[in-house]
Amino acid sequence: MTGNQAIDEQAVRNAAGAVVDPALNQPLSKLEMVGQVTAGPEGVSVEILLPMVPAPQQQEREERVRQAVTNVAPSAAKVEITFTPRVRGRETGGTLGLRVKNILAVGSGKGGVGKSTIAAALACGMQRAGARVGLIDADVYGPSIPHLFHVSGQPEVIEQPGPDGTVIPRMQPHVSAGIKVISMGLFIKPEQAVVWRGPMLHKALTQFFKDTDWGELDYLIVDMPPGTGDVALTLSQLVGLAGAVVVCTPQEVALLDAVKAISMFRQVKIPVLGMVENMSGEIFGRGGAQQKAGEMKVPFLGEIPIDAAIRIQGDAGAIPELYAENSPVRQPLMNMCETVALEIAQSLMADGTPQLPTLEIL
Ligand code: ADP
Repeated sequence: MTGNQAIDEQAVRNAAGAVVDPALNQPLSKLEMVGQVTAGPEGVSVEILLPMVPAPQQQEREERVRQAVTNVAPSAAKVEITFTPRVRGRETGGTLGLRVKNILAVGSGKGGVGKSTIAAALACGMQRAGARVGLIDADVYGPSIPHLFHVSGQPEVIEQPGPDGTVIPRMQPHVSAGIKVISMGLFIKPEQAVVWRGPMLHKALTQFFKDTDWGELDYLIVDMPPGTGDVALTLSQLVGLAGAVVVCTPQEVALLDAVKAISMFRQVKIPVLGMVENMSGEIFGRGGAQQKAGEMKVPFLGEIPIDAAIRIQGDAGAIPELYAENSPVRQPLMNMCETVALEIAQSLMADGTPQLPTLEIL
């Protein structure tokens, strides 16, 4: 024990560990969320490891820990609670040599509902909260990610040492706003897209996973082509997915397409994480997706209003601006990111493992 004799580090650790996480509803000790604990004359410091990033209910989490620690260390000059991202995931893509904790697909039943915009906003929100994020634009029919992230040109290929002295050429993803990005759009001319068939898509997607230098990632988001099951099937055969986010607009017709997308994901055995209602508001109405999510028994992941800021910042390739303090859509986007991260963490827990399985790649 250092310094202050009155404070017992183990008692502090136990107190923090007994706190029930407000989002995951289990004790922090069971969730392995208590990191470093120090107690000294300058005060007490407790590190909380976050299994999902961004984590919902951060303020409540911090208050609960602070209260519990203060109860066992009332004499502490200061109680400091810090948070470190330590995203949990499935051991996914192992055979491809990927070191990615969670792969998630963003899909829709039809084009034009804002699927790419939502995929980009999700990537940004997670990255800003401290997660390591990659984005694969597999929407060969309308690859808008290069525009949204201001990237162009085929990725550089670098030869890297492989096992047994071999040399492996690997594509270097573009990095924009701290996100590693790769897109079908970087490899094809727009007029070529229509002739792409299943086997070509399969090959390209396989290469995106296998031959790209992703490094270690917490979340790898795949922007899917709308409707078609080809890419979803490839994806489900290649990697174990954390799940799919289905984006739709609130009108009844669009919801029917979303229902088809959900069935398609279910058919290829990709779990559906839930539905996002985009462009919610006066023009298209609101609430339809939430109701449909209930009927389809999938979680509702939030509603993003129809707002000129989204189109303007998207056109300008400035998606991070949507998270600026004065952005009118910052809060709904943050809520969506938190809900998606939470759904992933909860689905890991629901897999029957009493504790979240850890893929330690730190
Ligand atoms: P998809 O990937 O489904 O084809 P996009 O993400 O390319 O759709 O979005 C289509 C258009 O709608 C883009 O111009 C985009 O900026 C705009 N958009 C997307 N979501 C919103 C929103 N919530 N409010 C206003 N415009 C939006």
